[in-house]
Amino acid sequence: MDIVKQLRHDFPILSRKIQGYPLIYFDNASTTQKPHKVIEALVNFYTTTNANIYRGIHTLAEQATCAYEQARVTVARFINALPEEIIFTSGTTEGINFVASTWAEQHIGAGDEIVITELEHHANLLPWQQLALRKGALLKCIPVMPNGTLNMSSLDDIITHKTKLVSVVHVSNAVGTHVDIETIVRKAQRVGARTLIDAAQSVAHQKIDVRALQCDFLVFSGHKIMGPTGIGVLFIKKELHEEIPPYQFGGAMVEHATVELATWRQAPHKFEAGTPPIAQAIGLGAAIKYQNQHIDFDILQKYEALLCERVIDGLSKLPEVKILGPLAQLKQNGHLVSFLVKNIHSHDVAAFLNSRGIAVRAGHHCAQPFAYALGYDASVRVSFYFYNTLEEVEFFLSVMKELVTHALV
Ligand code: PMP
Repeated sequence: MDIVKQLRHDFPILSRKIQGYPLIYFDNASTTQKPHKVIEALVNFYTTTNANIYRGIHTLAEQATCAYEQARVTVARFINALPEEIIFTSGTTEGINFVASTWAEQHIGAGDEIVITELEHHANLLPWQQLALRKGALLKCIPVMPNGTLNMSSLDDIITHKTKLVSVVHVSNAVGTHVDIETIVRKAQRVGARTLIDAAQSVAHQKIDVRALQCDFLVFSGHKIMGPTGIGVLFIKKELHEEIPPYQFGGAMVEHATVELATWRQAPHKFEAGTPPIAQAIGLGAAIKYQNQHIDFDILQKYEALLCERVIDGLSKLPEVKILGPLAQLKQNGHLVSFLVKNIHSHDVAAFLNSRGIAVRAGHHCAQPFAYALGYDASVRVSFYFYNTLEEVEFFLSVMKELVTHALV
């Protein structure tokens, strides 16, 4: 596709060589590469506008504040939220920990139930596991089936009147499963439970609309959608702002403070104590503008699914390779494919691919319960974005063929 070749020029890192080979970057589920526009936004901020926000009345402080708040508006429009519903965090992990130590700390007690899935990244498992241990609450899991999809038949037994929170991943980072969050959210609403969606793997690949999803909380990381590291988004539905206490205490979130007492500013400021990641938020704003300008989600999803289909069809011809996950679904709307190679550890597969310039991820992908459920310790994962090409996939398949042929002789 010519447009892909054109857009690749916007990403300086894609012209790098690794081990003498052109870089093939298939580790987008870990983090995405950054276009010039994002890098320039960071450089411009530090070159022309750097100042702390809110506090100063000088020109730089006003311009920096304006740029930071503009980024919030850009993010809000992107997911159909109100600007004050967007809380900047350091990433998905912090967003979930935020909810665990504020809303959940106050609303979940002994005997209450929290529901997650067996697909979760540790970021959406451990905060709830630890909260449940601390409070005497029960953590329940929607179980996974051998093909990496959820077994929804037991949903009525899992989400009950005791459920206070349902916190689920939108798309699995381990095998690419799309979770039917609409059904889960409706079920949670019927029993009066709050809902949190981990959109870390979906936000860059499909349209997110928090109003259509009707979730209470939604989190994602900027670095997975071309933004800088160190910036993430926590959406909190406006109706909940009053009942949620501050996550941290410090500068910029206070209305009045005496030695004895303090009152808080309105959200989002109440939830953003201290100097926030200003440049990173502005960088994320630039990333979303780039996304809005160049990427149509329907076309993107079809394109990434085509790359997945080619990988699945190509790897299926190698009897040594076992592909994980819901293959038919990945061919429809996937952006990643995970697999195992018989008698070769996934780390060795990744090292061999790296020797040909191909960057993939190997490991349990921070989803150990899922890996245990499927009976592996580490898989190889190739994950795509719009700048990947079919030529790259063909080269990857030829290197995989070389690997299994070598391993057999
Ligand atoms: N959830 C999912 C589904 C993820 O893929 C990731 C990142 N791999 C995270 C949570 C954690 O994101 P971060 O490390 O950026 O906080």
